[in-house]
Amino acid sequence: MRIRTVSESTTQLTRYGFVNAYLVREEDGLTLVDTTMNAAARILAAAAEPIRRIALTHGHGDHVGSLDELKKRLPDVEVLMPEIDAQIHAGERKKTKGSWPKLETTPDTLLRAGDRVGSLEVIATPGHTPGHVSFLDTRDRTVIAGDVFTTYGRVEVTDHFYWRFPFAAMATEDKAQDAESARSLRALEPRLLLVGHGPPVRDPF
Ligand SMILES: [Zn+2]
Repeated sequence: MRIRTVSESTTQLTRYGFVNAYLVREEDGLTLVDTTMNAAARILAAAAEPIRRIALTHGHGDHVGSLDELKKRLPDVEVLMPEIDAQIHAGERKKTKGSWPKLETTPDTLLRAGDRVGSLEVIATPGHTPGHVSFLDTRDRTVIAGDVFTTYGRVEVTDHFYWRFPFAAMATEDKAQDAESARSLRALEPRLLLVGHGPPVRDPF
């Protein structure tokens, strides 16, 4: 797993060369945003401080893939998941495109727009999945945008096929909504854009 410091408070973890998670430093320890896949031990080894909470951008398998194993090793960790994607995992709503692996872990907290997770503000960015959220770090205007964008070569919205990473568009449920979410993230004028798939981009828009 590749470990890269991308800002004063954030470390990017890249599994298999193409799936990212992020460790965000807070006063009480770390927030892990997304979990990649089969990476619990590696994530724990990369964490210089205790992981206090795991916040998920959405419910797809490449983002929740290490959640059960991490929860086993960190029983006290708080798990935060977007409300609608949690309902899909609970079988209360129909599955949408992309992978929805069976999870043993149920979230402790359901995320809605405007919620705060430490320094991170929850931004509703539906489309890729119905509950997809992004996180704005209010300290430095870093945005963790999950799968609203990919950043291979250039910043691309996942509402359309892009040859460098076609999987993101293939797994996007509502393309119009996804494009609208991309516009709302642009309007935040992020200083640093971090995504599920691709390298960090400074001053992206
Ligand atoms: Zn993804």
